[in-house]
Amino acid sequence: MSSPPQTHAIDFDNAKLQRLGFRQLQNVAQSPTDLAELRQQLGLQLQTSLEAEKVLTMFFRGVQRLIQLDALIYNHSSADLHLKLGDRAHHCASYTLSSEGEHLGELIFQRKHRFSELELAQLESLLTSLLYPLRNALLYRTATQSALRDPLTNTGNRIAMDQTLSREIELARRHKCPLSVLMLDIDHFKRVNDVYGHAVGDEVLKAVAGSIKDQLRNIDMVFRFGGEEFLIVLSNTTGEAAAMVGERLRHAAQQLTYATLDQPLRLTVSLGCATLLPAESTESLQRRADGALYVAKREGRNRLTIAG
Ligand code: GH3
Ligand code: MG
Ligand code: MG
Repeated sequence: MSSPPQTHAIDFDNAKLQRLGFRQLQNVAQSPTDLAELRQQLGLQLQTSLEAEKVLTMFFRGVQRLIQLDALIYNHSSADLHLKLGDRAHHCASYTLSSEGEHLGELIFQRKHRFSELELAQLESLLTSLLYPLRNALLYRTATQSALRDPLTNTGNRIAMDQTLSREIELARRHKCPLSVLMLDIDHFKRVNDVYGHAVGDEVLKAVAGSIKDQLRNIDMVFRFGGEEFLIVLSNTTGEAAAMVGERLRHAAQQLTYATLDQPLRLTVSLGCATLLPAESTESLQRRADGALYVAKREGRNRLTIAG
């Protein structure tokens, strides 16, 4: 027989923290040192990382020392953070976490057996030690993400691009996998600004970035290289496959429509494609993709050229 999930909302506001603390005292009688000791240990341990994934993993492992748990599932949609630790099981205890009106995500504990009232009280008590570390990790995540993103197009900026390219090149070498990049530039974009104004130009840039992301499996690999130029990193992709992706992007750009324009805008893009050579540097790979793009422009635009 299936039992309904045990759902709870937990609000970490001060008054409720006190209430939880108070409630915990009643249970301390049944497992006094363990719970108190664990809370103290977690309080210290969870402060040692600003990465939400690490904080939640440490929390999961810590709680498992006191309460048998099979899985911890965490979701925070606006932070785009989704984590699943352990093996899914039938019985759930769900918590909506918040503090001072700020949403801190949804947390679900799962296991094969139903949770007892005592265990739920212990879980809630332990959750208080997660509050500040989790909130700090979420703030840190927001801060680092905005430092790495271009606000207009919501693609990665140059800092993110350099980090990703270095990492991907290293991984490609280590695993002996191909790595390709596409350099994409909007054709005659200056004319768009001149004819329709800068605001429409911005809208077009956003639309092109959106269409690139729509066509790709991994949106974290799209970077705004310059004004109307984007670099796309394709891991584990040969030159041939990358050229196919590039052709898809070229066609997609021509299909775009713009809400604020009453007449259709015939927009095209040109692309240069380069595949990492043995012992090649990041700069050289970018330079070759840029060179191929230059050839595509020179040969008439609205085309893709592969670097030699
Ligand atoms: P080509 O086909 O040779 O690439 O020609 P183009 O006109 O696209 O290239 P050019 O480099 O001459 O002009 C790029 C223009 O992009 C000039 C600049 O004003 C515009 N631009 C750069 N960044 C932005 C931006 O953030 N918003 C808007 N609206 N325009 C931008
Ligand atoms: Mg251009
Ligand atoms: Mg350009």
